[in-house]
Amino acid sequence: MPSSPDIHFIGAGPGDPELITVKGARLLGEADLVVFAGSLVNPQILAAHSPTAQAYDSAGMTMEEVIRVMAEGVAAGRRVVRLHTGDPALYGAIQEQMVELDRLGISYAVVPGVTSASAAAAALRQELTLPELSQTLILTRLAGRTPVPERERLSEIARIGATMAIYLSVGMIEQVVEQLLAGAYTPETPAAIVYRASWPDEQIIEGTLADIAGKVVAAGIDRQALIMVGEVFGARRHGLAARSLLYDATFTHGFRVGVVG
Ligand code: SAH
Repeated sequence: MPSSPDIHFIGAGPGDPELITVKGARLLGEADLVVFAGSLVNPQILAAHSPTAQAYDSAGMTMEEVIRVMAEGVAAGRRVVRLHTGDPALYGAIQEQMVELDRLGISYAVVPGVTSASAAAAALRQELTLPELSQTLILTRLAGRTPVPERERLSEIARIGATMAIYLSVGMIEQVVEQLLAGAYTPETPAAIVYRASWPDEQIIEGTLADIAGKVVAAGIDRQALIMVGEVFGARRHGLAARSLLYDATFTHGFRVGVVG
């Protein structure tokens, strides 16, 4: 069996302590030292899965401090977990930590997590990929203090017209709407905001690109929310859903022979 890595980066999921993976929960339970992203990781996840580990909230720490705490833990023979919100590979700033750990010769592995876009879809009880409406999901953000490559400007990728989950941008909702309207979307395009998906105080705001910004500002939501946009979000409202071929009686696929109807 390969030896266990020095550090596990673990996706905590979107908030609900039950939405961490079984593997993530087990490793958290075995950890002696946990550095967690306190701004979004639910403290109940630590209470439930890792009540005795020494915990550091990275919200007030620099990257160097995070690395130092983890490196000292590893040197002391402790089992170290770096707990990130959602899935660590999305807007998790894990790359810079991994580069530093490589430099220090510290090994690590990543345990994926449920990203907030999945939790938002669940909250909305909405499939994100519907035949004929959209078969593509774009995960993106608006440029803020963190720049976005020019070719990925929201107005550019909005030309595709796919289902979109927009992270880190609800505080700039007016600009988001403006850029989406410069692409393939129209004022009638359905949009939904999911605030703190899977937390007890989760909130859903539904509308269209014509009214969603006003509703979000009126609700005072400026963080910890996802902007979900695309025709699929109108499917439930309009009762329209092209049926998928997968369960169509006349469609033959690898697991079932269709009947001619
Ligand atoms: N790695 C995380 C994303 C971190 S960036 C993930 O995979 O979900 C932080 C952004 O994620 C927030 O600004 C917000 O847009 C989104 N986010 C994180 N948790 C959320 C939640 N429970 N509900 C809605 N949006 C959330």
